[in-house]
Amino acid sequence: MTENGLDAEKPRSDYIRDLLLADAASGRFHSRVQTRFPPEPNGFLHIGHAKAICLDFAVAAENQGSCNLRFDDTNPSTEDHSYVDAIIEDLAWLGFVPDAIHHSSDYFDQLCTWAELLISKGLAYVDDQNAEDIAEQRGGFGRPGTESPFRGRSTEENLDLFQRMRQGEFTVGSKVLRAKIDMQHENMQMRDPVMYRIRDERHHRTGELWKIYPTYDWAHGQSDAIEGVTHSLCTLEFSDNRALYDWYLAQLPLDSPPPYQTEFARLELTYTVTSKRQLKKLVDAGVVDGWDDPRLPTLRALRRRGYPATAIREFCSFIGVARTNARHDIELLESFVRTELNASSSRRMAVLDPLKLVITNWPTDGAGQPIRDVRTLVNNPENESEGSREVSFSGELWIEHDDFKMAPPPKYFRLAPGREVRLRGGYLVTCTDVICDEDGAPIEVQCVYDPETAGGAAPDGRKVKATIHWVDAANAVDGSVALYERLFKTELPGDETGDPVDDLNEESRQILQDCKFEPALKDVEPGQVVQFERLGYFAADTDRELLFHRTVGLRDEWARLQKQGGRS
Ligand code: ATP
Ligand code: MG
Repeated sequence: MTENGLDAEKPRSDYIRDLLLADAASGRFHSRVQTRFPPEPNGFLHIGHAKAICLDFAVAAENQGSCNLRFDDTNPSTEDHSYVDAIIEDLAWLGFVPDAIHHSSDYFDQLCTWAELLISKGLAYVDDQNAEDIAEQRGGFGRPGTESPFRGRSTEENLDLFQRMRQGEFTVGSKVLRAKIDMQHENMQMRDPVMYRIRDERHHRTGELWKIYPTYDWAHGQSDAIEGVTHSLCTLEFSDNRALYDWYLAQLPLDSPPPYQTEFARLELTYTVTSKRQLKKLVDAGVVDGWDDPRLPTLRALRRRGYPATAIREFCSFIGVARTNARHDIELLESFVRTELNASSSRRMAVLDPLKLVITNWPTDGAGQPIRDVRTLVNNPENESEGSREVSFSGELWIEHDDFKMAPPPKYFRLAPGREVRLRGGYLVTCTDVICDEDGAPIEVQCVYDPETAGGAAPDGRKVKATIHWVDAANAVDGSVALYERLFKTELPGDETGDPVDDLNEESRQILQDCKFEPALKDVEPGQVVQFERLGYFAADTDRELLFHRTVGLRDEWARLQKQGGRS
């Protein structure tokens, strides 16, 4: 059980696992389980893919099976090597090692041979119509389609034309190969779907070799079969494609029982878009700095922001799989991140909006220099083995502007003229005076400290209502912090206008340049996450020293939503 009461470890039982059990019982695949994760290498992996990945790998592992990574690289215009490399890297970061890495383009020859087989059986034909005419003839829901005038071509003519398409004799868009199924079929996918289109583009793996490219439907199930996949798990939008998946496989001379497709709901999160296409639009429009901008839900962005891979995996396991689409609260994902980071990250002190605090009765040495005291602070109260560290404390400190008010409102218990507070791990101090600039804004708070209160407790037992954090001005290091809010203002970005960009939050990032850090923050490794006391979890930037990205705040917003009887 995790700290937020979420039982991430409970053994899963769902309709997909039930199907696998039934297949094992019936011996359908000789008790073999093989899955695959099939991204198109046209962008970076995102949190939605994480759900598919976790499921594909988990069900394989639970059944002593295997899971491949297969690049569904059938569209040369949008795909690239760099995406292939990034996907392999991100998958590894998430914690998964595929049993094999394949590419649909490895099967282009076999697919062509099978296409010729379909032509020979009278089950495929070359159509000379353009894409618009074909779409027009396809009909609609409750509206039968119209057969193509080229549907009756002889096998010989089809074989000849298909060969010539392959050799690059025809121009782009002038011909396609279509399966000959049923133009009246109630499932639109079965109305003579396109199997091949002519393309004059360079493929990132096969170069100029191919002039024709298979469609997703013609490539997918066949690639599954070639690899020996048993269970092809995909998202719900492919439900209608299942009949076609089965039909294609039924026409082919396979040695083993054909794989079958089962669908599950896409992962959707509030305030987030989880489609590569939509994410690409944001990157291309310059709305974010790139695919690893910490405001994006791509795996590399989440990693840069400090999300632990384990938290993402636990989240995916917790939400499980379902047959209906549902949107999960982003706060739930954050809750897993917070729980993990609470246990794993060291505490440090950082002041993001510094205000000088001077202790006027701080002792000085013989030369009039303030004495340097050393305080011992616990690194992680959740993990004793992390020990403690020494932090210097002298008469001049930095505190947050927000922790001082000239005229404190009701229920504000932090520092104010005449008020005593605790400096975390330091002393109790009482504000005696304030120096302000000409606009009346405080620039220096003067205090007296009680030397009897080292560590923060008063021997006479007197209570103070607030503890604030601080950084010793004598050896503070300067740095910056990037604070992130939601990238979108609305729970369902683009819900009203159809374009998420219309719901962008203009204030999704705030960079603070003049932060003051305790010296230990110089030693944080790139990418490592620490807790800034009272402020949240922050990840050290992977390139720039002393730049920290806020991963999540400290408050569990999901627990709060649950208490309010809020959303799912
Ligand atoms: P595009 O927007 O270009 O279609 P995509 O985000 O759907 O991209 P794909 O490369 O098509 O990404 O998907 C690879 C695999 O990941 C598929 O099996 C797909 O079903 C699954 N997948 C993609 N998005 C999600 C999501 N949001 N939730 C769960 N699975 C997803
Ligand atoms: Mg897709």
